[in-house]
Amino acid sequence: MRCKYNLFLMKLDVLAFGAHPDDVELGCAGLLLVEKANGKRVGIIDLTQGELGSRGTVETREKEALHAAEILQLDVRENLKMKDGFLQNDEINQLKIISVIRKYKPEVIICNAPEDRHPDHGKSAQLG
Ligand SMILES: [Zn+2]
Repeated sequence: MRCKYNLFLMKLDVLAFGAHPDDVELGCAGLLLVEKANGKRVGIIDLTQGELGSRGTVETREKEALHAAEILQLDVRENLKMKDGFLQNDEINQLKIISVIRKYKPEVIICNAPEDRHPDHGKSAQLG
């Protein structure tokens, strides 16, 4: 998923990674709002589309993610479309992460907690 905020390459101050669309909102939306209010450029990278989620479809999640991007006034939101439930810390996924970090050159990176009940969250942290 690429949203309308991703039309231009730009340097970001804060880039938050989440395994699933809504992880960042649940984990640090307040921080992103504060940083945005302080004039910082902020973005979210979702690693998966949350296709294994028991509530809602990929399309519903994408709509919600775009709506959240508007509310949070994000400068960037991208989805790397990794495989939900089967996140791997492998070369292919590492290159995807490296690509967005090089693209946006963030000063601060936020990611999922390294230890968490959901296995994708810990793997997401390893990738970040
Ligand atoms: Zn999650």
